[in-house]
Amino acid sequence: MTPRPPATCPDCRRPIRWTTTEAGKHLAVDPDPHPDGNTAIWRDGTGATRSRRPTTELPLCGWERLHKPHIATCPARQTHLPLHGVTRLDDHRNRKRTP
Ligand SMILES: [Zn+2]
Repeated sequence: MTPRPPATCPDCRRPIRWTTTEAGKHLAVDPDPHPDGNTAIWRDGTGATRSRRPTTELPLCGWERLHKPHIATCPARQTHLPLHGVTRLDDHRNRKRTP
């Protein structure tokens, strides 16, 4: 089997791993397994990496590993996340000033 060249994210240049979902779509995941991941990946008989969402009916199998979809960790896509800590600090200040 010839190893494929390592894939990288076009946005942040980090290494990614291409998988094929059960719907036949391509999904990029982080190359290393993550315990908080929500995507189960495994190699099928042809050597292709497949991915799926584990469910209560079909939980994680012994030959599957949990990975995070790269879109969840990509630093190039994290810029619009709300900053919860700042909001909480403002609430605290307003409460103290109220007589
Ligand atoms: Zn990325």
